[in-house]
Amino acid sequence: MTTYSMYIDGQWCGAESGETYEAINPAKGESFGKVACGGRTDAKKAVAAANRALVNWREVPLWERSAKCMEIADILDSKKEELADILCTELGKPRHGEAADEAGETSTPWRVAAEQAKYFEGNTKPCADAKKRVLTFWRPRGVVAAITPWNFPAAIPGEYLPFAIVMGNTVTWNPAPTAAATAVKMMECIHEAGLPPGVINLVTGPGAEVGDELVVNSGTHAIGMTGSPQTAEIISSRAGLKPTLFELGGNGPIVVLEDADPGEIAACIAFACYYAAGQVCSCAERILVADPLKQDLVDALIAESKKWKWGDPLDPEVNMGPQNNLGVVEKMTAHLDDATSKGAKIVAGGRRPDHPGYFYEPTVLVDFPVDSKLNHEETFGPIAPVASFGTEDQAWQYIDACDLGLVSSVFTKDIDRAWHWAERLNTGITVVNDWTHFWEHHLPFGGMASNRSGLGRIGGRHTLEFMSDLKTIAFNLGKPSV
Ligand code: NAD
Repeated sequence: MTTYSMYIDGQWCGAESGETYEAINPAKGESFGKVACGGRTDAKKAVAAANRALVNWREVPLWERSAKCMEIADILDSKKEELADILCTELGKPRHGEAADEAGETSTPWRVAAEQAKYFEGNTKPCADAKKRVLTFWRPRGVVAAITPWNFPAAIPGEYLPFAIVMGNTVTWNPAPTAAATAVKMMECIHEAGLPPGVINLVTGPGAEVGDELVVNSGTHAIGMTGSPQTAEIISSRAGLKPTLFELGGNGPIVVLEDADPGEIAACIAFACYYAAGQVCSCAERILVADPLKQDLVDALIAESKKWKWGDPLDPEVNMGPQNNLGVVEKMTAHLDDATSKGAKIVAGGRRPDHPGYFYEPTVLVDFPVDSKLNHEETFGPIAPVASFGTEDQAWQYIDACDLGLVSSVFTKDIDRAWHWAERLNTGITVVNDWTHFWEHHLPFGGMASNRSGLGRIGGRHTLEFMSDLKTIAFNLGKPSV
């Protein structure tokens, strides 16, 4: 059985305590290896190593740092079959679908960071004082703490690591415990590129210890975290004055206006609900449909739900994997029980099948009320919940009851109404006439400041900005002022 080690100061190592925990395959509910269970001492070692490395790394020319990110991208590409294997084993992602897709895309943010950093310009600034010439430069922040979730364990680290190091920062990284083996596989690729020791350090172990140490330690200077709003609130309360970037949970919605065509959009909406077994921050989560279209859309969604086959992720016919852990399964059940106790009806799926692992059937639920849990909170399971509205105000009652706002979609052929909805929806991204799963690594992504889906924007130039301090230099011409 494989043991997955940490990586500190350029060395593979176990936890100082010698402890490990079981790596679980969620498609079987069985262990497939052991992971080093780091604690505060290990996190402190990583922070010290990152600070030592920072002294030289920040002086390495940007073009060289960029080339190193490209080299890592090439290695990630050359190892994509191995990455897909571990994504399948550790997350249960279908090997021929989601696992291969994520592995194939893992290198992309490394290339985006490498390219964009080269053209990430500072400014010259006109000013009132005629003797001054004012320029701004981007400087590294220092040591960045990256705290990443389990649902896209190869893709999401790429939203932080390359953007941090290309700008001259060094990194201490704590991945989610249930996705740490994938992080180790990625770290092997980074190691192969020959980064100087300490530039990226991986510490596996519980977030409440390792992650918390990275947050509170005075040797880290910025925190990038993707995860739930609840964890982000804890981190925020512990981070003091450190800059924080939070990429958090969402709750749709998808709005279907009465001029849309249910037959044309049902497969697209089902994908927004069922991709990754519903475990994506940009999932549809709630479908609000105009009354006249309700029955047609529900019938079409039921038909679509039958096309999503859960089971052994190595089976090429399977396109839906398991939930990541029992907590996610329990939340799905709790949200279904709550909605049905308030009058909603399950019209497809709705059960955890009698099968090893943490599977859930693709589910369609109709008539959930405004006060149901799934209208307020992210469910993070394979669920297509439908509610209908007679007037736009009724739709807004559903939407305004939820304080999450990451990605929404609106379906309509009316350009004026599309624009009106896109501007008013309080989500960081609104997609018109397509699924909610739209984003590319150079585009801004994140939750609105007025809600709990995040703080700041990730993607391309926006991440480079977070990873940098803006230095202003004022150059005086002639004699000093008197
Ligand atoms: P989580 O909040 O449970 O954990 C996220 C990370 O925080 C993990 O690495 C965890 O170990 C760490 N952590 C836990 N407690 C901590 C503490 N006290 N101090 C420091 N770190 C701590 O989230 P999760 O279950 O791993 O991920 C799922 C969530 O992530 C969902 O809400 C999903 O929507 C969200 N997510 C958001 C995006 C986005 O881009 N907005 C992308 C993917 C996932």
